[in-house]
Amino acid sequence: MQDVVEKVYEQVVARNRGEVEFHQAVHEVLESLDPVIAKHPHYAEGALLERIVEPERQIMFRVPWVDDAGQVHVNRGFRIEFNSALGPYKGGLRFHPSVNAGIIKFLGFEQIFKNALTAQGIGGGKGGSDFDPHGRSDAEVMRFCQSFMTELARHIGPSTDVPAGDIGVGGREIGYMFGQYKRLRNSYDAGVLTGKGLAWGGSLVRTEATGYGAVLFAQSMLSTKGESLEGKKVIVSGAGNVAIYAIEKAQQLGATPVTFSDSSGYVVDEAGVDLDLLKEVKEVERGRVADYVERRPGARLVTGGSVWDVPGDVALPCATQNELDGDAAVTLLRGGCGVVSEGANMPSTPEAVEAFQKAGILFGPGKAANAGGVATSALEMEQNAGRTRWDFATAEAKLTGIMTDIHDSCVAAAEEYGRPGDYVLGANAAGFTRVADVMIAHGIV
Ligand code: NDP
Repeated sequence: MQDVVEKVYEQVVARNRGEVEFHQAVHEVLESLDPVIAKHPHYAEGALLERIVEPERQIMFRVPWVDDAGQVHVNRGFRIEFNSALGPYKGGLRFHPSVNAGIIKFLGFEQIFKNALTAQGIGGGKGGSDFDPHGRSDAEVMRFCQSFMTELARHIGPSTDVPAGDIGVGGREIGYMFGQYKRLRNSYDAGVLTGKGLAWGGSLVRTEATGYGAVLFAQSMLSTKGESLEGKKVIVSGAGNVAIYAIEKAQQLGATPVTFSDSSGYVVDEAGVDLDLLKEVKEVERGRVADYVERRPGARLVTGGSVWDVPGDVALPCATQNELDGDAAVTLLRGGCGVVSEGANMPSTPEAVEAFQKAGILFGPGKAANAGGVATSALEMEQNAGRTRWDFATAEAKLTGIMTDIHDSCVAAAEEYGRPGDYVLGANAAGFTRVADVMIAHGIV
């Protein structure tokens, strides 16, 4: 790293002690900026780098709620409003016991550049809570969501900050939060949350968008080599929203996904994943991956090791951050993997990314490859503002166009800065310059 960039990184580490995921995300972006700053030194003037790594606002609050047995629990809520240069803060809410300020900050920071890549006029933010929805009744989840929104409502709005879902936050949670927001504000601001139900302002394709987008990104990367997903064996991690729809799109494009996972283990189904059964188990019953294996002859559940031990042509990490480390990357490469498209946020550790890049395979980083989710959220906002609703084909065509544009912007930026085929540099450089140009135009704010 150049001195000027290194100094900014050191300040981030000193100022945000112990927030290792945030340090990791900042390091990855700043490292990519070396050739950008070398070519355009003005991006390092006016403390622009120092400003871009500091959230505009950080909100942390108490979320008290009562369980079905009458016991009172206290969780912690977060909303990091990171950067509003390009538009209202936009980014999901994560409910998972591992959530802390550093995780939300890393996700918010990534979101700035991801949202810039979509070219849809959205800033970057993220939020959530250390609440664990697993094993909680609908009534408990509702009371939690209502308490969470009671505080969050005063900070958000259709032109201010527009949250969506993430790990642990799907249609049910968005519904409970929207209900509480509407009640508190006495206003039907459909555009205040995305990922809504179709009957109350949601968009077709939003549910599918992140997983579909990650697969479309893999297809675009393959097309640069004159190849496609047709006939490829695909290794998928996760069994939530992103994983399920990545599997669906991969199947539609003629590939064969053979794995998925959750925190209890991973499933190998060499005949190809039975998507209807997986949806039934995960979306309807809210079950575990073991429930799939019980009903699917030939599928096996593995509770030790890692899903990345399974050989395949394409890997789609769709669970969580740092789920794919350097050793897993080496195993994947040995198994013949030539494409990695990140459905999750920062699922590959820096060692894994280095291994993929050294091997020269196609590697699509999450901030580009999983941008289809937020892009379709922006399409939802557009439909809400216009009081209109597009059919599935129209929304999907827009998503496909946006993913192609993101891919092409990454390719062009990687070429411009002398590292053709480096999607990490391409995504960071293209996203950063879009935000930085507008921050410069807005003055020192
Ligand atoms: P879901 O909650 O729907 O699913 C998450 C899946 O990953 C579950 O199968 C879960 O298993 C597994 N998982 C989560 N944490 C862990 C962990 N620590 N160890 C092992 N398995 C884990 O979330 P999404 O599918 O929405 O999100 C997945 C990833 O995609 C996240 O990184 C998210 O930030 C990213 N993303 C999501 C977008 C969206 O639109 N939903 C948009 C862009 C990125 P279990 O149930 O056992 O915890």
